[in-house]
Amino acid sequence: MLFSLGFFFLTCLSFRAEGSHRIKADGHFTKYLSQLVQEFNENPTHPRFNCVILPPRVTGDKLENFLCPKVFIWCPVTHYRLDIKCPIHRCLLKPRFFTDQLSKVSARNPRLVYDLRGNGLLVQRMYVCNYNGMSHRYLSASETIFQSVPRLYSDNCFPFVMFYKLACTKELLDLLETQILQWVSFLKVR
Ligand SMILES: [Zn+2]
Repeated sequence: MLFSLGFFFLTCLSFRAEGSHRIKADGHFTKYLSQLVQEFNENPTHPRFNCVILPPRVTGDKLENFLCPKVFIWCPVTHYRLDIKCPIHRCLLKPRFFTDQLSKVSARNPRLVYDLRGNGLLVQRMYVCNYNGMSHRYLSASETIFQSVPRLYSDNCFPFVMFYKLACTKELLDLLETQILQWVSFLKVR
């Protein structure tokens, strides 16, 4: 029940944010995100990619990245060294491009993630099934992929809740549900 109310609230929010769910940023953010993705490609199993990556908060040579957004890169195939099969054709999915494009509005834009203390970006990986020369693909944070790695999802390895055009942290959703419960209790008392 509460989850449904939270979902309703976020659905309303998604309509309000419809014009901004496609993210476009300046060259500096683009460079910062490209660098993170490159570091992931060079060492995809590194523990720093287990969680959301915060921008630098101390003075130093990377001070220019202070205002960059939080970023989470989600590619379970390479990060956890998993084989994920296409649920339709049972052949292995191949990781291809990341949704890390910020220079223009595109289907390859990262997903905006709403959070309590500053929003962030979710970078997904596109997984491709090549079956009999006919390819189709899945985003790494799609429901199909989560169903293939249920243990990762239940263990909170993926820290967000996905909606149609946006995502939010589980902490934000918990807060919304708590607030809604308080409103409902208040209305009942009255
Ligand atoms: Zn397939």
